This record gives sequence, C-alpha cells and structure tokens, in this order.
Amino acid sequence: MSLYKPETVICNGETFKVYLSEKQIQDRVVEIAKQLNRDYADKKPIFIGVLNGAFVFLSDLLRNVTIPSEVDFLKLSSYGDEKVSSGQVTDLKDIDANIEERHILLVEDIVDTGLSMKYMVNKLQRKNPASIATVTLLHKPEATHHDVPLDYVGFEIPSLFVLGYGLDYAQEGRNLAQIYILDGEQ
Ligand code: 5GP
Repeated sequence: MSLYKPETVICNGETFKVYLSEKQIQDRVVEIAKQLNRDYADKKPIFIGVLNGAFVFLSDLLRNVTIPSEVDFLKLSSYGDEKVSSGQVTDLKDIDANIEERHILLVEDIVDTGLSMKYMVNKLQRKNPASIATVTLLHKPEATHHDVPLDYVGFEIPSLFVLGYGLDYAQEGRNLAQIYILDGEQ
C-alpha cells in the first residue's frame, strides 16, 4: 500500500515539512497498543475516539489491539479554520454506548491547552464508568495549563502547530501519513 507522505506539503498557502515520520509514528502506535493489551487484558475497554482528529490514530491503534474491546466516538468543536485554539469547547456529538461500570480509554490526537480533554473527562465521569484513562498521540506540555491526567502519550512536542495523520489545517491535510510543522520552525 502506498501512503501519502511527501517531504513538504503546501496547505492553505503555507509550506509544511516533516516533523514525525511514518515509521516513528507507527512504531510508537505499536508500543502503546502493546501497553494497552497488557493493562486492559481482562477489562474489555471501550475506546472513545474524539472526532475528527483522532480517527486515524485510533484506527491504527485498534489494529494493533488484540484484546476484546469496543469503540465509540464523540465530537467537539474544533479550532475552526485557525491555527490557534478558540478557548471554547462545544459538544457536537455524544457517545452512543452505555459506559456505566465500563473501562474507558479516551483517545485524542493532540492535547494542547488541555481544555478539551479536561472537559471530556468530566463529562464522561458523570456517566459512572468503572475507570477512565486518557490516550493522546501528541502532547504539547508547555501549552497545557488545564490540569488533566494523561495516561498514555505518544510524543511530547513543542508548542508548534502540527498537521497530518488526522490533524487538519482548515480541514485539509488529515490524509497525510506523517506529521508536519511549518517550514522555518525548529
Ligand atoms: P486543547 O483543548 O487541548 O487546547 O486542544 C485540543 C484540540 O485542538 C485537539 O483535539 C485538536 O483538534 C486541536 N489542536 C491543538 N493543537 C493542534 C495542532 O497543533 N494542530 C492541529 N491541527 N490541531 C490542534
């Protein structure tokens, strides 16, 4: 299978270069899945993916998960078409599953300020699950000022706008197999 992974990409008139390669991402996804296979062996977890951004990470992750598990999705408002957060969270789609007494793995593409993750953990907590753990492919520790527990983190990255592997810029770029930053950064 040949994936879409150019060296540079122009998205909405701006040039981006590779920051994390396909191999770096895939190796880390396998490591996280192995950890989850161990930690959740007898727990039949429900993976809850956060739309839209987490769908690529979650699908690769799930194909490496070998324990009984279920999947559901929720959707929050996004960055809009900008490269900075609006600082507001709005629900666009709730989960369908009954998560009472179930073990939940909340899967995000990226944690920036931590606002969205904190909001979702609080929201899911009110549905009385047995446990909630958070999984994020990317974390920007310097930008995170909301107190939110991150249990499984793929990569810690600087506070730079990233694109690709599910993450968009004004809805474009989600189909890139690698993660990109603006050319000229770092
Ligand atoms: P937070 O609530 O932690 O500030 O932001 C989380 C959401 O903002 C993520 O789920 C993602 O949709 C978006 N986001 C944060 N940083 C980036 C980034 O560097 N690139 C893209 N494309 N989206 C981001």
